[in-house]
Amino acid sequence: MSELKLCQGPKCHTYTTKDRLKGMKDNKTYQTRRRSSMYYGSGNFCSMNCQIDWFDIYGDRAIDHFGRLTEPKHLTEQNAWTKDYDWRANADDSHRYFFVNKITKEQRPLTEDQYNDTNYTLNERG
Ligand SMILES: [Zn+2]
Repeated sequence: MSELKLCQGPKCHTYTTKDRLKGMKDNKTYQTRRRSSMYYGSGNFCSMNCQIDWFDIYGDRAIDHFGRLTEPKHLTEQNAWTKDYDWRANADDSHRYFFVNKITKEQRPLTEDQYNDTNYTLNERG
């Protein structure tokens, strides 16, 4: 059996849906949802509502903890590379993968493995 995760929504148990009502016959309570997988907030929330509830309570503190932006970021040639592909553009019907720079429009070829590697980038870190 796969492990069930609890929704992290602080008010999940207050939404009185049938599926949240759990327990023995005369002792049922509305409970936080448990799921093997959830689709919201990187798999931490059962619904958009629960994700929003969490942010309403903890969002400010989380941003302060991890570092609030104090000045705007800038898109420059050095960090404007994104990955893209042309669908079935090659003679063998495979996709043609490439980097494209959003500022200069320059393109550079990519292999499929490089395309799928989320750590592979031409952008300068910073
Ligand atoms: Zn929830």
